[in-house]
Amino acid sequence: MALRNLRFNDDKILRTKAKDVKEITPRILELLDDMSETMYKNNGIGLAAPQIGVLRRVITVDIGEGLIELLNPHIIEEKGVQKGLEGCLSLPKKSGYVERPEYIRVRGLNREGVSKEYEATGLLAVVFCHEIDHLNGVLFIDKATEVIEDEEIELNNEVEVN
Ligand code: ZN
Repeated sequence: MALRNLRFNDDKILRTKAKDVKEITPRILELLDDMSETMYKNNGIGLAAPQIGVLRRVITVDIGEGLIELLNPHIIEEKGVQKGLEGCLSLPKKSGYVERPEYIRVRGLNREGVSKEYEATGLLAVVFCHEIDHLNGVLFIDKATEVIEDEEIELNNEVEVN
């Protein structure tokens, strides 16, 4: 396992659509290991592969309920609306209020290539949506009603960092 460097701000890779994982190779498994390590070391609750410079549709999520790894994730159902403050490991010192679905169902593959489905509400739904947006080159600042730039914000404190 290795810590990878995060990509930040106007790095073009954050604006590039990632490609599906076609085959689960040792390199993909290494990517998954490195992503969770990088997410945890940076006190994140979610990470998408483009954030470490890899244009593959891979996300890791852990809101404190255990690690979820998903390849080629997509939202198959969404309901309701919630609005909350979000931050992003790739956009230090920025936060903003973003509308997300209150409930989603997400489907993808786990590291064994087995299809997995998750039902998510609240924060978990937010994180899935935020990370899947990253795979499409979309950042929370694109959707936020107001972006707050604050030198004083502690990223791992009040704001949910993905
Ligand atoms: Zn993010």
